[in-house]
Amino acid sequence: MRFALVNGEKREAKPELKGICPNCESEMIPKCGKIKIWHWAHKGQPPCDPWWESETDWHRNWKNNFPKEWQEVTHIDEQSGEKHIADVKNPFGLILEFQHSPLKFEERIAREKFYDNLIWIVDGIDNKPYFNISISSKPIQDKPLVYKINWYGRSKIFHNWIDSNARVYIDFGEDVLWRLLLFDKRKKVGALGPIHKYMFIEDCLTGTEISALRSDK
Ligand SMILES: [Zn+2]
Repeated sequence: MRFALVNGEKREAKPELKGICPNCESEMIPKCGKIKIWHWAHKGQPPCDPWWESETDWHRNWKNNFPKEWQEVTHIDEQSGEKHIADVKNPFGLILEFQHSPLKFEERIAREKFYDNLIWIVDGIDNKPYFNISISSKPIQDKPLVYKINWYGRSKIFHNWIDSNARVYIDFGEDVLWRLLLFDKRKKVGALGPIHKYMFIEDCLTGTEISALRSDK
């Protein structure tokens, strides 16, 4: 994890520090090596949240767009007492989960059920070359903008995410994010709506409905 509590304060991992997990209150140790991004790990045990995914620069860069207080927030289901750590939770109750690795179907369903107001941001950077040749050069709709995708890639990224009950935005490493709108698994044809990343972030920061790009903007 990025943060642990050190004397009650949310701190990033540094050698010599000792921390407490804000989620389960067990001891955490700083992992400050040369290969993996600096992070905190539970001492002698696996992460207390089975949904936790080890972080990459991609996760960190995304999370850094939001205040520290909004990152790695424990979310508790008041009825069952079940708790999980949200990547980002804004004060308006919106949860952002940044997903780098493929997710098992059952886990995706469970996570969508747990968080009422959830947006997935999926790391699609490995698929960028195929994305570039699969996306239509002109929009098929102007207001809001929608592009057609004729998927040539082998990856199941669209197959796996189209049935999600939450909103799904794919990050192909560009200045825009692409919202997954439609995908026909058999024909491998679908529709995506673009939004500038800075606009998406601004909407999350201000708690407004996420905009969609229009041809006149
Ligand atoms: Zn913990």
